[in-house]
Amino acid sequence: MYFDTMLTRMTLWGELMGIYEVLKTYFGYDNFKKGQEKLVSAILAGRDVLGIMPTAGGKSLCYQLPATILSGVTIVISPLISLMKDQVDSLDEMGLSGTFINSTLGYDEFVKRFSEIQNGKYKLIYVAPERLNTSLFLKLTKDIEISLVAIDEAHCISQWGHDFRPSYLEIPKFINFLDTRPTVAAFTATATREIVEEIKNLIGLKNPLEVITGFDRPNLFYQVAKPSNKFSYLLNYLKNNHVSDSGIIYCATRKTVESLAEKLQHYGISAVGYHGGMNPNIRQESQDDFMLDRVRIIVATNAFGMGIDKPDIRFVIHYNMPKNMEAYYQEAGRAGRDGEKSDCILMYSPADIVKQKIIIQSENLSPERETAMYQNLQYLVDYCHTDDCLRNKILIYFGEDAQQKSCNNCSNCLDQSERVDITVEAQKILSCIYRVNQSYGVNTVIQVLRGSKNKKVMEWGLDKTSTYGIMQDYSNNAIKEMIMTLISQGYIHMTADKFPVIKLTSMSREILKGKVKFYHKKDLLQKPETSKALDGFSLDGINDNLDKNLFERLRQLRHTIAQEKDLPPYIIFHDSSLKEMAAYMPRNQEEFFKIKGVGQKKYESYGGEFINLINEYIREEDLDVSEIRRQIANSTIVVGSSDRLQENTKTDRYEITYNCYLHGLSLQEIAQQRNLTKNTIINHLAKCESEGKTIDWSRFIDPEKEKKIIQVIDKVGAERLRPIKDELSDDISYEDIRLVICKHL
Ligand code: ADP
Repeated sequence: MYFDTMLTRMTLWGELMGIYEVLKTYFGYDNFKKGQEKLVSAILAGRDVLGIMPTAGGKSLCYQLPATILSGVTIVISPLISLMKDQVDSLDEMGLSGTFINSTLGYDEFVKRFSEIQNGKYKLIYVAPERLNTSLFLKLTKDIEISLVAIDEAHCISQWGHDFRPSYLEIPKFINFLDTRPTVAAFTATATREIVEEIKNLIGLKNPLEVITGFDRPNLFYQVAKPSNKFSYLLNYLKNNHVSDSGIIYCATRKTVESLAEKLQHYGISAVGYHGGMNPNIRQESQDDFMLDRVRIIVATNAFGMGIDKPDIRFVIHYNMPKNMEAYYQEAGRAGRDGEKSDCILMYSPADIVKQKIIIQSENLSPERETAMYQNLQYLVDYCHTDDCLRNKILIYFGEDAQQKSCNNCSNCLDQSERVDITVEAQKILSCIYRVNQSYGVNTVIQVLRGSKNKKVMEWGLDKTSTYGIMQDYSNNAIKEMIMTLISQGYIHMTADKFPVIKLTSMSREILKGKVKFYHKKDLLQKPETSKALDGFSLDGINDNLDKNLFERLRQLRHTIAQEKDLPPYIIFHDSSLKEMAAYMPRNQEEFFKIKGVGQKKYESYGGEFINLINEYIREEDLDVSEIRRQIANSTIVVGSSDRLQENTKTDRYEITYNCYLHGLSLQEIAQQRNLTKNTIINHLAKCESEGKTIDWSRFIDPEKEKKIIQVIDKVGAERLRPIKDELSDDISYEDIRLVICKHL
């Protein structure tokens, strides 16, 4: 029945290929993301839908694409007023007509837009829920044909959700008011089962097609860091990772935001602060600076984020712990919306947990609610101390089954650090706590253990205790780390006070009596702090093949255009598109169209300038583009094919090499089979080894040559290959030297 109605509502009801054409022409994509095609097809067939997709899952396209095909207009209800302008600008850049109606418009602008809508100028109209049932807007609906109502952030209708918006409850009234019921499509990223049921019932979805694509965000690298000096850890990270990319640093308080932003600026890092207590103009300025890439980092409280759609945020660092896993996942999830590799680093600190507990206590909650809050917080604390896959820990929290044992993209799965038995050290710590009458905080206990001559320690007579100075050989940081771990695992209790004191628990006895052994990651106790946002893991896939200088020049061009148009750079092209350009170097229209994210309008607007720049670069550098592409193809990345730049391309590549290795092939044979050089094969195997696989390098090494190479390395060092090679006879190749280095260093 609805097919008849639908046929009259569509301008372009073709076979399925039609939507692929639209996908490429307007959006510049060759393929749908998971779940999109089903949702788009159902909407076009007139069926209500409920799309539950993670942040960056591609929800917008699910209603924007049908909107271009359906004959009437699509109303998009969104709570994120601050995003509407960007969304409409993005549509415009793609050649789609849209507008928005919200409280930011003056009366004249309002009237103008209404008349434009009546005249059929727009296919998509973004509306804040508060505007829907105003008499003006209701009147307008009588003059236009509404084919689709898309409800973004649909969980806002639920009082159980964290973003409840009462005005969402008015949406059904609006839909019922319309003369002909349009198709209704609801989308959300975070929804437990209860919330899903509420969305369906409260909105009144009719037999909706429900598509759940899961919560996983494979491009996000999760890490828990336990630095004893958070600031130096942070500084080290910022100086060595994503140095010209955007990032958010979340802090718990406004005070921390201000002091941290100032400190970072002092160290020459481009950063601004953002919190609810700032002067609104300055706050807006901070946000604009960040969104428009005028500053690299925004240091913010959780007031920052709702309605922030910047797709190229490469890291989200929590300088303090948030209140629970849901808050954490939502905030961390602002990284990598464009699907590029990005880091989510949570800095653990027991003091933050204490703070969060104090906040819970101060909130006068019902006993059930208070218990639930503690449980939620505890889940996050457990996340910080698990040795299991962090991704799985998150997915399990959201009710999903763990995908596989190891995700290979979190700090636990990539952690190869050795565990050491520190039972004796733990016993010393626990004894000390007991000897100082369980009356002091972490720092004092450490001072006693290290035999400090600190004035207070002496005044209080703590130097007289039997545990004074029994851990002199350990650094402050190492003991702190052990204490933190003992706290997290329940062997020490830290009181929830302004000046927390550490005490023994019922479990402490098990360690003191030697019934339980206590282990710890060795490197956390020994090494100076270095960022574990693992070097070499942040670049992947296309990143290995792109020409970095060209990429920088393309970015610069994008920046200039963005400034001229007063638009955020990512609206012009996403990083992923620029990276493809910097790798594949498209020289003409046909080639440029193969780049992901290039549709008809984008080509017309910017194709010329970008192609010119690329050709100029090729000439200046005298590059052989065919050769460059051949190399890319050898790395199994083929531009234009559907799976060309999937996340796992690079991983697969290493896997294939490793499989050849497992089949016992020689280096030469693997190189031949893979059509790669021996050097590349050595690189692949080294990478596999760094990821935990076992490589027996001896298989490829001639013992006689090995001896000679080692003798030379002892003499000239192994920093550079050339001096080693110069000292050796001609029959020893660079590959031989690299193999020996891989085996021994
Ligand atoms: P969500 O609303 O689910 O958080 P968006 O609609 O903002 O996600 O999409 C996230 C990113 O994915 C955007 O950068 C968008 O351009 C990109 N995207 C959407 N659909 C596709 C697709 N089919 N292929 C490639 N990228 C896509």
